[in-house]
Amino acid sequence: MAEIAEIQEIRRKLKKKLDPGRYEHTLGVAFTAAALAMCHGEDILKAELAGTLHDCAKYGTEAEQLMRYRKSGQEPGREILLSPAVLHAKAGRILAEKKYGVTDGDVLNAVEFHTTGRAGMSRLEKIVFIADYIEPGRTKAEDLPRIRRLAFTDLDACMLEILADTVDYLLKKRSHIHPDTLLAKGYFEEIIRGKKSND
Ligand code: FE
Ligand code: FE
Repeated sequence: MAEIAEIQEIRRKLKKKLDPGRYEHTLGVAFTAAALAMCHGEDILKAELAGTLHDCAKYGTEAEQLMRYRKSGQEPGREILLSPAVLHAKAGRILAEKKYGVTDGDVLNAVEFHTTGRAGMSRLEKIVFIADYIEPGRTKAEDLPRIRRLAFTDLDACMLEILADTVDYLLKKRSHIHPDTLLAKGYFEEIIRGKKSND
């Protein structure tokens, strides 16, 4: 069970680790995740905890992140090496468990999959993924007002919009796309198609 005192303690530690902008973003994701949890009937403190921790490994250069990941006894697979942006999410899960003492598997998955998404995401995972994209400090994505409204009305439709946008962005940049992202996109396309045919 997540408790407020536990979250406060983690926040204090993260403030020392993360750069100020990243820390502000972390607070934004945590309270946006809490608000989405209120709206969609998810455990509010779990959402706040997962939001607080989602970028807990995102500090230092990519090379430093890779070194810390290896030090923790993990060997990054090919997919992680091809998509280095995913590294902080994988490393974040390990830190959340080993350093911050999180035992809840749903919270750990929400940290691990906040960058790529995946097929079969839980409600908590969707909430953290979406909160990362729409928190108040985000300004760059087009269409944010509409995506923000959608987040509070339909998590699955919102997931699909963000994933489609992410895939477009990576294609334009000619970056590698992590397979979990493509699988997630296909998964939410199916769900939305199913919802439409039931109408
Ligand atoms: Fe992140
Ligand atoms: Fe983030």
